[in-house]
Amino acid sequence: MDEELYLIKDAGVSPRQVRLARVIVGLLVLSAVIATPLATTPLLPIPGYMSAFGIAMIVVNIILASLLFAKGLIESKESSIRLGAAYFFVTVIFVPLIAAFPGGLMEAPIIGSNSSAVWLWCSWHTGFGLLIIRYATSSDDTAGTATSVRKSILATIAVVALLTLGATLGLPYLPEVFRNGRNFFDDSTILVPALVFGVNAIGLLCVMRMREEKPERLWVMVGMVAACIDVWLTLYGGARFSLGWYFAKITSLFTSLVVLISQLYGITRLYHGIAGANKILMTQANQDGLTALSNRRCFDQVLEIEWNRARRDKRSLALLMIDVDHFKKYNDCYGHLAGDDCLRQIAQQLLRVINRPGDVAARYGGEEFVVILPNTDAAGARLVAERLLLNLSAASIPHADNQPLGQVTLSIGVSATVPGPGASTSALALAADKALYEAKESGRNKVCTAPRELVTPAPPAFLMS
Ligand code: GH3
Ligand code: MG
Ligand code: MG
Repeated sequence: MDEELYLIKDAGVSPRQVRLARVIVGLLVLSAVIATPLATTPLLPIPGYMSAFGIAMIVVNIILASLLFAKGLIESKESSIRLGAAYFFVTVIFVPLIAAFPGGLMEAPIIGSNSSAVWLWCSWHTGFGLLIIRYATSSDDTAGTATSVRKSILATIAVVALLTLGATLGLPYLPEVFRNGRNFFDDSTILVPALVFGVNAIGLLCVMRMREEKPERLWVMVGMVAACIDVWLTLYGGARFSLGWYFAKITSLFTSLVVLISQLYGITRLYHGIAGANKILMTQANQDGLTALSNRRCFDQVLEIEWNRARRDKRSLALLMIDVDHFKKYNDCYGHLAGDDCLRQIAQQLLRVINRPGDVAARYGGEEFVVILPNTDAAGARLVAERLLLNLSAASIPHADNQPLGQVTLSIGVSATVPGPGASTSALALAADKALYEAKESGRNKVCTAPRELVTPAPPAFLMS
């Protein structure tokens, strides 16, 4: 059972993931270093860039938040719900943000004025940074519940509504940050960008200090490096549609995308594990642990299926009931381990005599085996049974207490019938069992066939006349 549990366990951080994360962080930092001196370079304004970016942010973040909320609920982990709340906040704040952005959805801002988008941008990054700090510093012991998801969603919507009001109706009370067509923080407002960057940098540090070694933490950390670069390049680039501004938008998307991809990768790995565990479970549910033949459960199912098929096709179905002779004495003489080994050898001999794809050999229990032979009559089944006795005799497994041969022998009962009215699988099995009993009674190491009447009841008298 351990093997299955291992397979479906949430995977830890592999060295490959750590290496990949390091390379990505390296590339992010390198591109930020290269982009910084060029950040203020004005580029052509691309109409629709902001709306495309905004919609991409909403879609990526809502998917990520939903995955994290679901994970928190399924695994009862409040920490995943807290992380989900951070990405849900980004989703919600992007609605007023693109509405307030000039050239976002329309030429002019739909809500507020030019400065509204700047304040909403500050709110987005400060709020996200704070929620990441909350995720990274809260204890992991609490169980995540549907109530906490509901509370997170409602609180986020309420906070974003207030922030939107502040950034639109409350503009007269806020410092002026949008001058000469540029979003620009001068000496009097420098505290605002310092706060936004500081919160994200602290968020990154908090995630780095988290104790649990999980892929989620690793990729949130990479995402936070991207978030810091995003804030830095937006502030340093200053103007909208500058190189820094465009570059920052890509890193914004990356902040969430990198965590989303890692979550999807984790889900795919879990799915892979579950599929593997399922396969093992299916095999174990149908296989006998000692001989690797089909087990009793599988035999019952196959017999039912083959019985119905034989009835439909009006073909004969045969059954062999096999019992090892004096096996108790074998155990007494050679020990149980040798007994187990002997059963395995008999199972191999059994597999050698059944050649058709539909034939099934199963361990019925103890030292008893059964064989289902579809599309086979009693004479054919008897041939298979005799071939088995012959092969086993040739294998010559010593059994000193099974005289006169001094080797392992079998007794086999055969029954066969074309399923019809009044016949049943249990009658077929019972007939094979009776034939086996007869083989035992009449000296063992032989095959006995059940009389036809035993399996197929005689038709009612009115049909005979
Ligand atoms: P008979 O010829 O009349 O069939 O005699 P028998 O001794 O084979 O029959 P009995 O039913 O008296 O004993 C069956 C023995 O099979 C009992 C048990 O020691 C042995 N046996 C059953 N299952 C296993 C198993 O999984 N491993 C081993 N080693 N022995 C088993
Ligand atoms: Mg027995
Ligand atoms: Mg026996």
